[in-house]
Amino acid sequence: MSDDKPCATLANYAARPQTSRGRRFPEPAPTYRTEFQRDRDRIIHSTGFRRLEYKTQVFVNHEGDLYRTRLTHSLEVAQIARSVARTLMLNEDLTEAISLAHDLGHTPFGHAGQDALHACMKNHGGFEHNLQSLRIVDQLEKNYADFAGLNLCFETREGILKHCSLRNASKLGAVGERFLEKTQPSLEAQLTNVADQIAYNNHDIDDGVRSGLLTIEQMREVDLFSTQYDKVMWKYPELTGHRSVHETIRRMIGDQVIDLVETSKKRLEKAQPDSIDAVRAHPDVLIRFSDAMRQRNQELKKFLRENLYYHHKVYRMTRKAHQVIEALFGAFMDDIRLLPPEHQQYVRSAQLESGEAGQARVIADYVAGMTDRYATGEYQRLFGIDGSVF
Ligand code: MG
Repeated sequence: MSDDKPCATLANYAARPQTSRGRRFPEPAPTYRTEFQRDRDRIIHSTGFRRLEYKTQVFVNHEGDLYRTRLTHSLEVAQIARSVARTLMLNEDLTEAISLAHDLGHTPFGHAGQDALHACMKNHGGFEHNLQSLRIVDQLEKNYADFAGLNLCFETREGILKHCSLRNASKLGAVGERFLEKTQPSLEAQLTNVADQIAYNNHDIDDGVRSGLLTIEQMREVDLFSTQYDKVMWKYPELTGHRSVHETIRRMIGDQVIDLVETSKKRLEKAQPDSIDAVRAHPDVLIRFSDAMRQRNQELKKFLRENLYYHHKVYRMTRKAHQVIEALFGAFMDDIRLLPPEHQQYVRSAQLESGEAGQARVIADYVAGMTDRYATGEYQRLFGIDGSVF
């Protein structure tokens, strides 16, 4: 629709559909949407996106209905990233597409699942969730008649591949080049990366306190929290419990977003990139926090790592997750007849192409695609001794 016209709401340094590096399989332009809106819509209609609802963020999906899942996390990332994108005159549609797709490659059971699968794959090229997100949108979604994957624009794929090992980057063509050449991605990709951190650092506090694994007293050790909490308690001395936490967190997010916008604006004014290519060639990222906010965020991250992610109760779940992933992967490697027929076929084709490594990759794709509850159910069906396997 607006693809051919200059857009007054976009700065020169924003990504634009008309200067996109395109799709892998050329397609006619959409009629009433931009190319990046089409990408976002394909992501929302994908199977991988629906699976995010039943994948763990920190707490396993069945532990409670109010905790974040990968789906609600992704929506929070999109909300934060879009607000900043509009303020900085970046491409909001691209920002939204990257945000909604950024965690598609996560395994069941959060980071525990990914670590376990990476260990299973250590002799077959390893497992990286960012790369897996790209594999999903490039190959594994099988919904369209003309191509495998979602055939997304280069800029969306560039944003999804947030990190990548050099070894894998060298096999990915254009989208892997920036890791080898040490250049930057688009500002929309840089922004989504920071919005991801803002979202999880803040919602993990909320989930942590809700679960009882963290207390407000403990949280007051953290500068980012205590600064806002003290202001809230000064203004609303009667406020307690969840409302005091939510009121604090909304102010924390506001504070971080304002710092991000103001710091990034200054950096953009100084660097004056006049196109997305100038952004890519710039020696450093341009969308970032101030040094002071970065430090305060590091403190919060460290606190969450020590007190929540390694909390004894979370750790017990982590151990179980390792056990489930290792057992499923091992069983499918030993005997592919345990896989659904369609996946047995994928294994056979992959074996012809690249032997055991090919087989392992297809099985990793299958296990990574499982939701928490599907993985737990498969474990029960394969190894349970209560008769359910029959
Ligand atoms: Mg994320």
